[in-house]
Amino acid sequence: MLNRSAAVGSGSRKAFELFIVPGTSSTTQAHATATDGPEREGGMTKCCVCGLATDKRCQACAKSRIALFFCSPEHQKLVWKHHKHVCGPNAHPFHFPPLSQREVDELLELGDTPLTLDMANVDAIMRVAEPDEVQRLAARVKQPPRTVRQGIEEDFGAPSGSFSQLRSPSAFPPHQQDMLLNARESLKSAKIERKSNSFLLFDELDFWSHVAVWDFVLPPRREPSNEELQKSISWSHCRHQAVVVFSLLTRRRAAKNSATVPLDLIHRAIEQYFDLVGRAVPALDEPTAGYAAHTVLAAMWDVADFKLYIHRDSSGHVVVRFSPPPSWPFSA
Ligand SMILES: [Zn+2]
Ligand SMILES: [Zn+2]
Repeated sequence: MLNRSAAVGSGSRKAFELFIVPGTSSTTQAHATATDGPEREGGMTKCCVCGLATDKRCQACAKSRIALFFCSPEHQKLVWKHHKHVCGPNAHPFHFPPLSQREVDELLELGDTPLTLDMANVDAIMRVAEPDEVQRLAARVKQPPRTVRQGIEEDFGAPSGSFSQLRSPSAFPPHQQDMLLNARESLKSAKIERKSNSFLLFDELDFWSHVAVWDFVLPPRREPSNEELQKSISWSHCRHQAVVVFSLLTRRRAAKNSATVPLDLIHRAIEQYFDLVGRAVPALDEPTAGYAAHTVLAAMWDVADFKLYIHRDSSGHVVVRFSPPPSWPFSA
């Protein structure tokens, strides 16, 4: 397995400057196929960091059909430390950096732990799920708890016994590695939350864990299969935007001077995340979006003082706004 920190090479400054290019006609084309892409209001493309209109995008990602826009090299640089791990060939299909040896070991150690269902979560899903999903969940609730090992093998359609092969990267193809990262984080966060009886605090999960957790914050109403999710450009965009948000937050926390990454910038990046999710999940309703937005925002203590505003835009997509900045464009 690759060592994540070893992949953080020097010379990245040069790399991201090369990546930024003005939009060409192919940018416009990318937007013409916007039903499964980064459709923006009025055909406008926005910097994923600050939301300013721009036609510059990450060239390496564009080759993977992901149009990720940056207004300036400064804003691209601000999130490059994390974006570079999912840039270019890993942009779409989006692949998390592989699990580290430590993560594999933790997961293996949890193998025989019984998986308990979070009933509050089950109830919430039951209320909005399609009938066949409700049936499946109801059956699951009646069954004896599965172990982590069984849960992962069954949910990912992996052959029985593959869990014990986790140390060998070929045991699971890349998209299943992504799901493993997710599974590991769900388990870890459930453990921490149960212990502290509180929302997960930002500092308790590592970087990629946060991004993985966001994958499940706004579940599509009719849950696509792992493979369908993997093929969806819209979902890859959501994940890229989650990387941008957490990169900004991480940077703000690490900086001695919080003005390096103003909170307002983070607010706008989070709003873009929710806009993208609203578009990727057309069946999303306002209460679900509100619940999810509240959950993720509450987990980040320095953006915790917020008020949510949720509405549908002219195309019927759910739009989430919070703690309006002075330039608040909507009436509450
Ligand atoms: Zn910008
Ligand atoms: Zn990129």
